Amino acid sequence: MIPGPFNYHRPATVTDAIKLLSDLGDDARPLAGGHSLVPMMKLRLATPEHLVDLHGIVGLKGIRRDGANIVIGAMTTQHELLASSDIARSLPILQETALLIADPQVRYRGTIGGNVANGDPGNDMPALMMTLGASYHLEGPNGAREIAAADYYQGAYFTAIEPGELLTSISIPLPATGHGYAYEKLKRKVGDYATAAAAVVLTMSGGKVASCTIGLTNLHETPLLAVDAANAVIGTSLDAASLKKAAQAAEAIMSPAADARGPVEYRKHVGGIMVTRALTRAAARAK
Ligand SMILES: Cc1cc2nc3c(=O)[nH]c(=O)nc-3n(C[C@H](O)[C@H](O)[C@H](O)COP(=O)(O)OP(=O)(O)OC[C@H]3O[C@@H](n4cnc5c(N)ncnc54)[C@H](O)[C@@H]3O)c2cc1C
Repeated sequence: MIPGPFNYHRPATVTDAIKLLSDLGDDARPLAGGHSLVPMMKLRLATPEHLVDLHGIVGLKGIRRDGANIVIGAMTTQHELLASSDIARSLPILQETALLIADPQVRYRGTIGGNVANGDPGNDMPALMMTLGASYHLEGPNGAREIAAADYYQGAYFTAIEPGELLTSISIPLPATGHGYAYEKLKRKVGDYATAAAAVVLTMSGGKVASCTIGLTNLHETPLLAVDAANAVIGTSLDAASLKKAAQAAEAIMSPAADARGPVEYRKHVGGIMVTRALTRAAARAK
């Protein structure tokens, strides 16, 4: 289908974009890679009267170090994340996750800012950002603010972003040296959203799990941090009993939709399996 009519704006600065979004109000939407928004417009599930294209704002691109954090501009594409040697060295789980998003065409256009700002429970980056303890930098008519990824998601397509605000960058604390990581995603076919997915970042000491964080994708209306599941493995050698406890604790907080990807019980079951696999693979990678 063809989208409804809209006016197109291409500001050159964040200030101009915020002014446009504030002046135009609810009828305006930022346009990043367009790979979530345009399909929604074609289905008439979104009918913005104004699109504020962010591609003209040079300052929204790029990956840089800021002390013990990696800061990624909102308009950095998934492809650029995959091509970055800095990300390969310091945040390999970001590349593992990006590579599981859709296909090369989508990754060339789709941005990390659009992926995390969107609020779609099927997006892969939000649960990862929560697992990594990332925060989002928002700029709006009332100034700038920082919000933890864990506090940003409030419901399906419902987030803490205020009218007129833009997500301008993402700040990710560098994980500990020698950390283990894994993003496990079950999908029906290449290019599909997750039936269930789990992100794990952990450290090992003396053969036991010293620290662990687990995030879940598409198993609730928001991404989830599986805190009890992570606590179930800390201090253990990831033996079969503790892996089972972790999977059960993770399943206990899942409430996926029953949809074409399967009924609720199936999706929770495979969600538990994703947690087990991600824990096992992360531990094997930890040094
Ligand atoms: C066939 C297909 C398969 C896909 N599979 C997956 C998948 O498996 N996993 C996955 O995670 N994603 C998947 N996607 C979605 C893809 O990753 C999108 O690119 C991503 O969700 C949105 O990024 P975007 O840059 O395209 O944003 P857009 O589509 O331009 O925007 C998405 C939403 O975020 C808002 N927005 C964008 N940027 C900002 C900003 N800086 N500040 C505030 N609001 C902003 C927009 O107004 C819009 O509401 C798929 C898409 C397609 C077409």
